[in-house]
Amino acid sequence: MNSMTEGQLQPGATGVAPAPVPFNRPFAVGRELAYIQEAIALMQLSGDGEFTRRCHRLLEQATGASKALLTHSCTAALEMAALLLDLQPGDEVIMPSYTFVSTANAFVLRGAVPVFVDIRPDTLNIDESLIEAAITPRTRAICVVHYAGVGCEMDAIAAIAARHGLALVEDAAQGIGASYRGRPLGTFGAMGTLSFHETKNVISGEGGALLLNDPGLVERAEILREKGTNRSRFFRGEVDRYTWVDLGSSYLPSELGAAFLAAQLEQMQAITARRLALWQRYYDWAARPEREGLVRRPVVPEHCGHNAHMFYLLLPGLAARAAFLAEMKAAGIGAIFHYVPLHSSPAGMRYGRAQGALPVTDDMAARLVRLPLWLGLEDRLDEVIERVDAALDRACR
Ligand SMILES: *Cc1c(COP(=O)(O)O)cnc(C)c1O
Repeated sequence: MNSMTEGQLQPGATGVAPAPVPFNRPFAVGRELAYIQEAIALMQLSGDGEFTRRCHRLLEQATGASKALLTHSCTAALEMAALLLDLQPGDEVIMPSYTFVSTANAFVLRGAVPVFVDIRPDTLNIDESLIEAAITPRTRAICVVHYAGVGCEMDAIAAIAARHGLALVEDAAQGIGASYRGRPLGTFGAMGTLSFHETKNVISGEGGALLLNDPGLVERAEILREKGTNRSRFFRGEVDRYTWVDLGSSYLPSELGAAFLAAQLEQMQAITARRLALWQRYYDWAARPEREGLVRRPVVPEHCGHNAHMFYLLLPGLAARAAFLAEMKAAGIGAIFHYVPLHSSPAGMRYGRAQGALPVTDDMAARLVRLPLWLGLEDRLDEVIERVDAALDRACR
């Protein structure tokens, strides 16, 4: 496993361009290979074996959720959430437009209509003050996204959901290890979803989890996840055979993925601490270009315990960003931008609707850049920052 974390930090030979710095690099924290070997020795490679149970326990301990269920992706966990809500065609789900496509797709697959609401200019999270205006008689749920692992304004949003009898789902794909007023993200709504994709903080290649904070949802969730059968109850000895009892699909990851993930979850706090240290170095450096009006740094409200999922900068505009990204490409630094707002994407226009104009979303989507942030970058971060600084000078002045 060391080959994944070490041996990548070779500086370029003298007189040669420095080695490129990728935007992301998956990492192992130590016991992944040993656990995969153990999983093979246990002779159960399909889902819900020893390592899956260990991951469930670790996630329940870390979050306080009533139940955690591993899935093969956060996308799958969102699909399970949409199934559990029993959405009918035409039902509406309020969400930000500034998010990954899975937030919307999971509900669209059930025939529901995503209703896109603008974001806050500080955290880029859904603007809670705009949610109530988007509620109609068809609204069934609010799906928030904790962008960059910084919590949405959950006090206000939970109050709106309660007042209007709406389900609350949290897309906490980026939120593992982060908290809002001391409470872990993913535990405010009836359901929260996590991602362990290799670009996230805690990884297993492809992977995710559904956090259930309402014990009443657990039995049906287990059935949906096991192809619509009561197989989980059968394995616990609660029924004497298993059969098809409900809708469902196959949402379990294999034990090989769960073994990798267990090693990562055991190190979650150390991973978060290392990412926070990297993030802080970017943040401290960026104070000067921010004072000079070249960039805006991420905003983390005091009551949000973030997890350093990403470090981004807001540049002056679209042209400056294009120039900056060209500079980064030439310098061999993997900087990227996202998202194409869902309300202006082809499928978003076909399946969803925007709640009025979304000027903050459009503005942020045109100006945001993400910089490399991965375990192992420590040794090269000064060099990355130097090159980012030089590129900003050329692109944004
Ligand atoms: C990464 C991400 C997802 C999708 O996660 P997968 O595990 O790749 O399915 C969904 N929503 C958000 C906000 C994400 O960042």
